[in-house]
Amino acid sequence: MARLRVSVHKFSSCDGCQLALLNRVEEVMRLADRVEFVHFAELGYVDPDAPVDVAFVEGSVSTPEEEIRIRELRKNARTLVTIGACATAGGIQALRNLQTDGREWVAAIYPSPAYVSLLGASHAISRYVAVDLELWGCPVDSRQVFSAIHDLALGVRPLNPGDSVCATCKREANVCVLVAHGEPCMGPVTRSGCGALCPRFGRACYGCYGPSEQVNSVALTQRFASLGLGPEAIARRFLSINNAAGPFAEAGLRAKEPR
Ligand code: SF4
Ligand code: SF4
Repeated sequence: MARLRVSVHKFSSCDGCQLALLNRVEEVMRLADRVEFVHFAELGYVDPDAPVDVAFVEGSVSTPEEEIRIRELRKNARTLVTIGACATAGGIQALRNLQTDGREWVAAIYPSPAYVSLLGASHAISRYVAVDLELWGCPVDSRQVFSAIHDLALGVRPLNPGDSVCATCKREANVCVLVAHGEPCMGPVTRSGCGALCPRFGRACYGCYGPSEQVNSVALTQRFASLGLGPEAIARRFLSINNAAGPFAEAGLRAKEPR
């Protein structure tokens, strides 16, 4: 059987999602009989323009060069999968889209902002090209990526559950940090996939997996208010890593509005 030709590409990102894959390098090696990595610079394979069966994309589109590159990449990839919050929803860099002048931020960070070439906003990959599968998380969960690779190698569409972190907590019998400890947990509106990593260790979820399929942000906003969070604090819960993801963006902006 022909091996699946796979590439991994970086756009505007911190590389954390690629590192999440490399953290399980033994798993990468075990794939060798089914998968050929054609481009994965962090693993030492460099051929970014090669046609592939599956292209994994990390990072958002933030520069004119990236807009051109993602369109070219799409032509060369039979299946395109986004990995992580940046690629799937725009990530933390999309926060600048909420500013009237994002360039002020650039000037605050870079000593010579005139040399930084940026699009007017940072967006998810799906803003520019069709995406076949979106995997969330900051970083993405490597088990989800490897599971997707296995499925695609077998010609099966990968599962991508849309239930909430709460559902995972219930399945794993985690103590609910919202009910038991009054923590402002985003689990009720956040997509599962991480194994409820934060609540499992007694910490509130901050929504790195983005919105679940059923989001009742009004109820969660009221719950956060009952815990003593003010409008700004509630807005920050939603306008974080996945600030540009539809239901989170709406809830965050609504929380900021004066009543
Ligand atoms: S989703 Fe998070 S870990 Fe992945 S590249 Fe973006 S900032 Fe880094
Ligand atoms: S519990 Fe929430 S913040 Fe923590 S890893 Fe999972 S989705 Fe991300």
